Amino acid sequence: MVSQHVAVIGAGAAGLVAARELRRKGHRVVVFEREPRAGGTWVYTPATKPDPLGFDPSQPVVHSSLYKSLRTNLPREVMGFGDYPFLPRADGSGNPRRYPDHKEALAYLEDFAREFGLEEVVRFEEEIVGVGKAEEGGKWKVSSRMRSGGGGGGGGGEEEVFDAAVVCNGHYTEPRIAEIPGIDLWPGQQIHSHNYRTPEPFQDLVVVLIGSAASAVDVSRDIAKVAKEVHVASRSYEYDTLGMQSGHDNMRLHPMIEKAHEDGKVTFLDGSSVDANVILHCTGYKYHFPFLETNGIVSVDDNRVGPLYKHVFPPHLAPWLSFVGLPWKVVPFPQFEYQSRWIAGALSGRIALPSEEEMMEDVEDLYSELEVLGIPKRYTHNLASSQFEYNDWLAIQSGSRPSEKWRKEMYSESMRKMRARPEV
Ligand SMILES: Cc1cc2nc3c(=O)[nH]c(=O)nc-3n(C[C@H](O)[C@H](O)[C@H](O)COP(=O)(O)OP(=O)(O)OC[C@H]3O[C@@H](n4cnc5c(N)ncnc54)[C@H](O)[C@@H]3O)c2cc1C
Repeated sequence: MVSQHVAVIGAGAAGLVAARELRRKGHRVVVFEREPRAGGTWVYTPATKPDPLGFDPSQPVVHSSLYKSLRTNLPREVMGFGDYPFLPRADGSGNPRRYPDHKEALAYLEDFAREFGLEEVVRFEEEIVGVGKAEEGGKWKVSSRMRSGGGGGGGGGEEEVFDAAVVCNGHYTEPRIAEIPGIDLWPGQQIHSHNYRTPEPFQDLVVVLIGSAASAVDVSRDIAKVAKEVHVASRSYEYDTLGMQSGHDNMRLHPMIEKAHEDGKVTFLDGSSVDANVILHCTGYKYHFPFLETNGIVSVDDNRVGPLYKHVFPPHLAPWLSFVGLPWKVVPFPQFEYQSRWIAGALSGRIALPSEEEMMEDVEDLYSELEVLGIPKRYTHNLASSQFEYNDWLAIQSGSRPSEKWRKEMYSESMRKMRARPEV
């Protein structure tokens, strides 16, 4: 087996498990992490960007989008890695709940890093600013810089050459906002959920919240405790579910916003309107790879990262450039593990990938299929209905065990319960 020198970008759950799998296959790994600790999304910070929509690129990045009250939306058994279960601590410390708080998830990732000696390969407070092809045959030039105040383990502010790069930089940091007619003249405050931490700033205000995914459900309930009124607008609500929300006397569901008006009014597509103080966008995030220098070989188009064979390898650069963690509406940690095993095996030459042409054909087939079904590009990496099939395919590639039957069943049951009773 061939041992490669591999740069991993990011020490969240994806970067940590990628590092473990790469090292298991004998590769030499350096993980670059711009924050002072591992855990990525799970490192809660009360800090937010001064620009509440989070658009201004001149402001320092705040990576995590967690709010203070967040508990996991998956049962811990389902959420954990395949061979390192997310169990309550034997000594009774921490948060033993089935859907624990975010501190417990961070502690789990820190335990995972410690158990597999991963922190020794992480260079903290080193931000990757460039990843591109080096002059010398087939290698990667990786440029990094120390973040201010950093004391990472050397090599900062320089260019280094690696055989391969694995991108694990997460995709819940760069806000996407809804387009609202009239918004430029609307006098209220707008904020994206990336900058939401606690409900107190919304005390006695009238809030219009856009979105219907997990964050929208959590944040609307958090805010309803203190706000005067919460009006939740979404494209995906069925008309028969609109109106007052059970369990809350100040929360109402609406169809999407029709227009925001100069006098502060916000009108909805069903003709109703409110005088609102705040519009809160719980409308998701964009893939963002500001460091990638691939001359357009990989690009982001309407939130489709491509072309990527099975959401991991750009056919033209495989296996030397890869991505872990792009699919969404999935159980992330175990899927990162399957993707990482495949990458580690491909880099060691143990797993053969199809030819570039065959991989491109597979990507084109997927794109045509989505087009025929009328699915927009931005849903390319939504694997809600195929995640376990996808994981099992990855497992076959690397000769590992497919997803456990109990995990699939427990996941389906937890989704069913969440849809039926999101407040529990
Ligand atoms: C609000 C919210 C709730 C969620 N709830 C759940 C849940 O209940 N259960 C669940 O399983 N998942 C949940 N997720 C999904 C969660 O994002 C994944 O579980 C997982 O943590 C993602 O890991 P990652 O490593 O891909 O990305 P991240 O955790 O985002 O880690 C990426 C890392 O890369 C680093 N980085 C980025 N750019 C650079 C650079 N240029 N140079 C160096 N380092 C860089 C970042 O600092 C970060 O540490 C939630 C996500 C959000 C936003």
